[in-house]
Amino acid sequence: MSFTLAIVGRPNVGKSTLFNRLVGKRLALVDDQPGVTRDLREGEGKLGDLRFTVIDTAGLEEATDESLQGRMRKLTERAVDMADVCLFMVDARTGITPTDEVFAEILRKRADRVLLAANKAEGRAAEGGLIEAWTLGLGEPIALSAEHGEGMPDLYSRLLPIS
Ligand code: GDP
Ligand code: MG
Repeated sequence: MSFTLAIVGRPNVGKSTLFNRLVGKRLALVDDQPGVTRDLREGEGKLGDLRFTVIDTAGLEEATDESLQGRMRKLTERAVDMADVCLFMVDARTGITPTDEVFAEILRKRADRVLLAANKAEGRAAEGGLIEAWTLGLGEPIALSAEHGEGMPDLYSRLLPIS
């Protein structure tokens, strides 16, 4: 059976970098249908022998009249509804921010379908953030470096039971 993975989290944590790593050039669809999929990008993901659909969330960077929190909530809830599992990404170098806490609060209601990833985990600068990520109450963070391709075997082993 195949599954759908949504990558969620605040801007700049590395969601699209991971999406591109998982999807490569197999980008299935970039839909710009107003209001529906404008902020979601879907592709065919591949990790080892796993094949799955990946959803990248974006659009939170854009300035609009609606509050960032309101849009975050809507976008995150939509992505969670579409997905079998959500990868909630934080930045291990920055550590946990108030915006991360807002995401975590939304996602804890669906904690059984959430994987926590601490990205930018290459090198020692990430150690503090990696430990801090435990405080989000979403279990053990997967240490990733989307840019350098580190932690992919750990991501694989966490996705395997879902597949
Ligand atoms: P998004 O806004 O969450 O989609 O984040 P992006 O994928 O656009 O990445 C934001 C910035 O973080 C870019 O400059 C990336 O090159 C950088 N970045 C992504 N992954 C990593 C990583 O694993 N390590 C480091 N050091 N930088 C990363
Ligand atoms: Mg992005």
